[in-house]
Amino acid sequence: MPVCLVIGVPGVGKSTIMDVLKAKYPDKIKIVIYGDYMVDIAREEGLVRHRDEMRKLPTDVQKDLQERAADRIYRESLSFGGVVLVDTHGFIKTPNGFFPGLPERILKLLNPSFTVLIEADPEEIASRRAKDETRERDVELEDLIRLHQELNRMAAVTYATLTGCNVVIIRNEEGKIEKSAKELAKNIGVA
Ligand code: ATP
Ligand code: MG
Repeated sequence: MPVCLVIGVPGVGKSTIMDVLKAKYPDKIKIVIYGDYMVDIAREEGLVRHRDEMRKLPTDVQKDLQERAADRIYRESLSFGGVVLVDTHGFIKTPNGFFPGLPERILKLLNPSFTVLIEADPEEIASRRAKDETRERDVELEDLIRLHQELNRMAAVTYATLTGCNVVIIRNEEGKIEKSAKELAKNIGVA
């Protein structure tokens, strides 16, 4: 059934919105955290014991894991009757520039029907990051968050061009998680 990529800068509210949707429509929604699949496969093969060992693996091994995770996600999506929401990132900020979360081969393997871009005011995102003590996100200037959001829009447009998926932009306004979840449900056809 449809695969829906969900992207947005750290702290914008992706996981929160997906969790609300899953709670509302438990049978229609499956949440897949891309990175977790890579860790699971690496563990099954005895390549790592902990998630933190992942980034120490050689790049070609990591790329192979990335592809196999995509393959597993796609196969699981075939047997699921609802929408598979893939929690991932368009671009990941690194000390050496922005790194693409989903290279072309992976995108084609996943064959998404939708790319959902979650956006918010850079000022609000900075404050969400500061308040959320469950995570250790980078503290960034608003201008950098704005630039990162612009790049994610370009990622979404690229996904649409390469795969033919639709692009959905959800504005996750402060204090309006329910509204964002509703809008997402409507756009991807689960409501
Ligand atoms: P990451 O990519 O780092 O996993 P994320 O996009 O999944 O980030 P969340 O963990 O969902 O972000 O949200 C970050 C924080 O912002 C959480 O503390 C969450 O409760 C809060 N938050 C999310 N949406 C809103 C909103 N509309 N208004 C106020 N706070 C929000
Ligand atoms: Mg998250």
